Amino acid sequence: MTLRIGIDLGGTKIEGIALDETGNELARRRIETPRNDYAATVAAIVGLVHYLEETTHRHGTIGMGIPGAISPATDLVKNANSTWLIGKPLHKDLKQQLGREVRIANDANCFAVSEAVDGAAKGVHVVFGVIVGTGCGGGVCVDGRTLIGVNAIGGEWGHNPLPWPNTDELPGPKCYCGKHNCIETWLSGTGFARDYLDHTQQKLKGAEIVALAEQGEANALAALERYEDRMARALASIINILDPDVIVLGGGMSNVKRLYENVPRLWGQYVFSDRVDTRLVAPVHGDSSGVRGAAWLWD
Ligand SMILES: [Zn+2]
Repeated sequence: MTLRIGIDLGGTKIEGIALDETGNELARRRIETPRNDYAATVAAIVGLVHYLEETTHRHGTIGMGIPGAISPATDLVKNANSTWLIGKPLHKDLKQQLGREVRIANDANCFAVSEAVDGAAKGVHVVFGVIVGTGCGGGVCVDGRTLIGVNAIGGEWGHNPLPWPNTDELPGPKCYCGKHNCIETWLSGTGFARDYLDHTQQKLKGAEIVALAEQGEANALAALERYEDRMARALASIINILDPDVIVLGGGMSNVKRLYENVPRLWGQYVFSDRVDTRLVAPVHGDSSGVRGAAWLWD
């Protein structure tokens, strides 16, 4: 009997899941991430795997999603917003302590895999998964497998510049990566709230602005319309390169229902094609996508 263990290593929590061969959940546990303590983070992951195997009385394959990537050149963690992981030999240490290979991918890649295997993009050829939450990450999945890439940055388009910028969008907000006008600074929930603040001098959370828009408040509606056009432009640049069957949204902004209608209505003017059959869809597994996708890294 196959057991697939998936671990989702986040900045505030670590979640583990055990799936049987058909994707049924056999066990699950969520623990706090030992923030700023690398050795304790490794120990917590190892403990979680042991718990899942003891609970199910089986030995499993292990996949893990991280907020970053393992550099193919050095085998060390890079690009992680959980900064205490950067430069650490997480892959090697887990392999050693667990006595087997551990497959590690970016959390947005895991999200895309989960939705491609048995979620909103089940059975299609090419899926682009986008997480628009605190940040903005992307991942590519082809025929149910994650496309990690030679630099392990496949799908990472959040730090490309916002395409087809309007003059009032330039030079654009400064990003933590050191550049201006990154897609993340516009499409993350944080970026959406900042854009509203810039236009109204009112500091609200993303969900509060969306609620105001639903009541028909003009400034909030205008902010959402700007957001939709920016998302249409950012995703059109992906469609022009990958031509995916489905784009799945995850993260806090994926709860905004009107995006699924309005963004595809807008992206046609930016995509180089007579028509666009790519579908923009909401996730099926929601918050569980990361941990399920990690388990599916072993197919
Ligand atoms: Zn950036």
